[in-house]
Amino acid sequence: MFTKILIANRGEIAVRVIKTCRRLGIKTVVVYSDADAGSLAVEMADETVHIGASPAAQSYLVADKIIAACKQTGAQAVHPGFGFLSENASFAQRCADEGIVFIGPNPGAISAMGDKIESKKFAQAAGVSCVPGHIGEIADTTEAVKISEEIGYPVMIKASAGGGGKGIRVAWTRQDVEEGFPAVRAEAKASFGDDRIFIEKFIESPRHIEIQVLGDKHGNVVHLFERECSIQRRNQKVIEEAPSPLLDEATRQAMGAQAVALAKAVNYDSAGTVEFVAGQDKSFFFLEMNTRLQVEHPVTELITGLDLVEQMIRSAAGEKMAFGQGDLKINGWAIESRIYAEDPYRKFLPSIGRLVRYDPPEEGEHDGPHGGYIVRNDAGVREGDEISMFYDPMISKLCAWAPTRLAAIDGMGRALEDFHIEGLGQNIPFLAAVMDQERFRSGKISTNYIKDEFPDGFAGTRPTAEQLDILTAVGAAMQRVYAARARSYANGLAGAPRAEWVVAVGHTKRRVKVSGEGDVTVEMLDEGRVLSLTDIDWRPGKPVFRAALGDKAFTVQVAPAAEGFDIRHRAAKARVLVLTPRSADLHDKLPEKQAADTSKLVLSPMPGLVVSMDVTTGQQVREGEVVCVLEAMKMQNIIRAERDGVVKAVNAKGGDPVAADEVLVEFA
Ligand code: ADP
Ligand code: ADP
Ligand code: MG
Repeated sequence: MFTKILIANRGEIAVRVIKTCRRLGIKTVVVYSDADAGSLAVEMADETVHIGASPAAQSYLVADKIIAACKQTGAQAVHPGFGFLSENASFAQRCADEGIVFIGPNPGAISAMGDKIESKKFAQAAGVSCVPGHIGEIADTTEAVKISEEIGYPVMIKASAGGGGKGIRVAWTRQDVEEGFPAVRAEAKASFGDDRIFIEKFIESPRHIEIQVLGDKHGNVVHLFERECSIQRRNQKVIEEAPSPLLDEATRQAMGAQAVALAKAVNYDSAGTVEFVAGQDKSFFFLEMNTRLQVEHPVTELITGLDLVEQMIRSAAGEKMAFGQGDLKINGWAIESRIYAEDPYRKFLPSIGRLVRYDPPEEGEHDGPHGGYIVRNDAGVREGDEISMFYDPMISKLCAWAPTRLAAIDGMGRALEDFHIEGLGQNIPFLAAVMDQERFRSGKISTNYIKDEFPDGFAGTRPTAEQLDILTAVGAAMQRVYAARARSYANGLAGAPRAEWVVAVGHTKRRVKVSGEGDVTVEMLDEGRVLSLTDIDWRPGKPVFRAALGDKAFTVQVAPAAEGFDIRHRAAKARVLVLTPRSADLHDKLPEKQAADTSKLVLSPMPGLVVSMDVTTGQQVREGEVVCVLEAMKMQNIIRAERDGVVKAVNAKGGDPVAADEVLVEFA
């Protein structure tokens, strides 16, 4: 077994690998770029090596620097994590040539499977069912159009070297191909340094189901069942689970057998994932094989009890797998939510910045309304850290395990309530909304889920009756604490605290009578009900308010606002005002503020760089025409005119950095 391993990665996956190494008594070396000098992984590693500037192309992607770091520290093996050099066959070969063990599959397996075009050819030959399409490189837009028309629309244009949802575009028409082909090619070149593109049939409303495989260097390959990753935005996974609510035992075995056959055909000798798109009728087609550890591997670990990083290390060290297919079984249900630095209220666009507050739920066992659940949170950040523009905007991976799917969903919902982040946009309210949706709970999902359920984007959810009660009670309790504090400053000159209030949650106003010290009782005067708030854990200044309403424990995020409080429970956020009956009357008579008219403005939807400004002052623009192209986190965003008009002013040009909401173009 190795005594020292170098981790050629960063963030949560570097931390994840360190944890397993520590348990196995293996020393770790972490390499880091300028941006990561103060990171958690660097803090946790036994040794560290600085490998260059922040852009990955000058640090994490430079094989020479990784190899030199191994030699300098005497690391015998390299774990590449995912992304970066993890699926780079020549890097794996280079390690072998230098006498360093690559903790991943052999280079032959990577080159056979690590490229989408090559792997499809291979899978086809091995008798695996594939998506119909043109399995080969495409020279130019003219050929792309010709091929798309042969396959029949809709088609998917894909970068052969693509990954993480980048370098993919659906085309419904000839025009989509004409625009999309060069765009995907440019994105592929920029992100992967490889602009080979192919086109395949776009399967509508499919599910993404993948099989985890594991092999050793002695010819043994098993599968560790499936994960379903259908909840995606921009073809990128956000919520994953294991097992899949779609599969029955026969389909599971059929998919598992195909995945194992494919893996065996390339002498696969590590952890890997065979991805399929599946129809609602349980038909399935091979998509690609990821020859590395997958981001969402924790859900598989939670249902099998195996540590995949440990298995990869053991297999790389030449150990024989200690179990066979017959020893493996599925235990319970696990869900993963990817907590991203992105703004769900603005089409999930990346949001960079500092984690001014970062307070995750406690890991381990928790009591829940339907029995217990287990929380796991894989993160590579601490409070105060920065999510930079240089790398993936993932903050952490929050997992919940429970004996059944519904209990796991409920556990995840509670864990999301208990996760507090400030300082940048984050998708926790969105993830919580999904956990509360009947369709998600029923398991009838597809990769269109987000488009289907949030056609106009995400705007939070309207509070349910239960949430209205929570928001009302919390508002009343907070007001009571502030009032008590004010009275204490008055040195006993103030009279008894007022008991009767009107609590306004958005437009809903309710008359209440509040009493109690410590525990708070809120009598709903119009409804004849009483809300009792116990186990209150909050004091002024704290952004998180924990308590139980009746016998239900909950957590809300609270912030003082101009008038009252902003309170969020899961996806329901409201301005809560606690008013005296007299001011409630006056309040009713106030005219509502009109939102500013922004219909004539084109605003920057995210912080980024203007790649090109495609309009000039005085130009007549038609709806749908390209106004400008923005780039952030390697993603290009085409901003189009939302209606016909004449350009009155252009406020940015190619090369300009812009902030979110900056006015780029004004129409007359
Ligand atoms: P990546 O390497 O970025 O993960 P994939 O080929 O795995 O690329 O595709 C990413 C996602 O795009 C899949 O999970 C699936 O949801 C969707 N997808 C890919 N190919 C197709 C297809 N032919 N039809 C429908 N959806 C697809
Ligand atoms: P798929 O490749 O099918 O989308 P994943 O969701 O596991 O499956 O995607 C992982 C890919 O996304 C990696 O290959 C990598 O390019 C990128 N990626 C995702 N998260 C990170 C991260 N935290 N650090 C580096 N790369 C990441
Ligand atoms: Mg994929």
